[in-house]
Amino acid sequence: MRVAVLGATGLVGSEMVKVLEERAFPVDDLVPLASERSAGRQVIFKGRPYVVRAVEESAFEGIDVALFSAGSGPSRKWAPVAASKGAVVIDNSSAWRMEEDVPLVVPEVNPHALDKHKGIIANPNCATIQALVALKPLHDAFGLKSIQVVTFQSVSGTGLRALDELKEDSKAVLEGDPPTCELYPKPIAFNVLPHIGKIDEKGISEEEYKMMNESRKIMELSNLAVSCTAVRVPVFRGHSEAVVATFEKDPSLQNAIEALSKAPGVSLTEDPLYSYVVPSEVEGKDPVFVGRIRKEPSPENSLSFWVVADNIRKGAALNAVQIAEELIKRELL
Ligand code: NAP
Repeated sequence: MRVAVLGATGLVGSEMVKVLEERAFPVDDLVPLASERSAGRQVIFKGRPYVVRAVEESAFEGIDVALFSAGSGPSRKWAPVAASKGAVVIDNSSAWRMEEDVPLVVPEVNPHALDKHKGIIANPNCATIQALVALKPLHDAFGLKSIQVVTFQSVSGTGLRALDELKEDSKAVLEGDPPTCELYPKPIAFNVLPHIGKIDEKGISEEEYKMMNESRKIMELSNLAVSCTAVRVPVFRGHSEAVVATFEKDPSLQNAIEALSKAPGVSLTEDPLYSYVVPSEVEGKDPVFVGRIRKEPSPENSLSFWVVADNIRKGAALNAVQIAEELIKRELL
């Protein structure tokens, strides 16, 4: 199989190359693509160097699957080109996610949506993926009515440059210098910013809309009540979320723990009532880690839990490769 990775020099793209290798995805030829800026650089795959090319139409000739992680602009431009040349595009940006004929897929939640793909498949928002991997088994057991999520999202969600901004700003604060604030509206070092993406006239941010709209589409629950406060925190990698979910049926703690312990993609902490995982423990790990599960006194039939995952891996690269694997399983690739 010929596999193109658009954005191969970025945080998500380089993790995609790593995940393809680790999972022994059947790659016969890898075509790493980026902008003119990175043309000529090398990407190592299975011990061999591959030269990064600047993306152009001819780069998609003969490609079977194209993993995109270069942002919405390049996705809007290049996904139809790649699809018209016969490639199946799995796109990490938000460009196509809410288009009606584009499946938006978390393989543990709605793999059947892939059956109707027309050449472009969207990978959901990182914060949404980890919440839904944990919520799906609970929905199957008790019937999901509403969710309230507060996210604690690491700076790696903003891309490679944000890692430098957190490092440099932390140093500046410790040395008594003014922080740069290039990527974020307020200093990120030693701070928390309840602001991810533009905030609209209703006061809701882009990231909060993603959690609302994408959750409804993926879960196929058009009336699901979703509220979200998306917060950027000074953590390099790994997103955390405090989730409160309300169900049709009474979710006994014992049944909830049982459902989660059998759920694909979920790793339940050893003592799920008391113990929890933190972002520094999840880098490079595949599962969505769930802990601190408890019944809420109100509203009725509610559960709370803490969920942490590697946003670059399950939130992006791993989910995209799992989609490609699922396509092979369904003989769609
Ligand atoms: P990043 O580290 O900034 O990397 C961006 C990549 O895109 C680089 O390879 C860059 O190539 C390439 N690129 C940028 N503009 C381009 C253009 N005009 N044409 C071709 N290539 C271009 O960003 P990232 O964190 O990997 O994120 C990439 C995408 O994945 C974004 O859409 C993001 O929203 C999405 N995503 C990110 C996360 C996350 O947690 N980070 C999670 C889910 C989805 P150069 O080296 O040539 O600049």
